[in-house]
Amino acid sequence: MSDQGLGLIVILFFFGLAGGTVGRIKGNGFTVWFLISFCAPFIGLLTAVLWRRDNQELRRECPRCFRIVMLHDAVCMHCGTELEFPDVAIAPRARVIPSIRAGEGESPA
Ligand SMILES: [Zn+2]
Repeated sequence: MSDQGLGLIVILFFFGLAGGTVGRIKGNGFTVWFLISFCAPFIGLLTAVLWRRDNQELRRECPRCFRIVMLHDAVCMHCGTELEFPDVAIAPRARVIPSIRAGEGESPA
């Protein structure tokens, strides 16, 4: 492989790393955002930064399967039921479990 090609891979890797780290901090998953930022540098990283924090979104209970889904979901991710806008919402994960906001590195090995 040429030096230029290797340099590009290294740059893409660091974009992926940055995007993945942003995704992980926001509770949206490292791997997904690593791949997005790796494949689409600049745009992917920017999207990771601007993307909503899933662990700070309001949630609700699916009326059919009773699983917890995101408030903004129009369809249940588990059973496929179409969801009306609910009367009551469930507090975001970060507010219920403060350790999610503090970071994942604190759990005992
Ligand atoms: Zn459901």
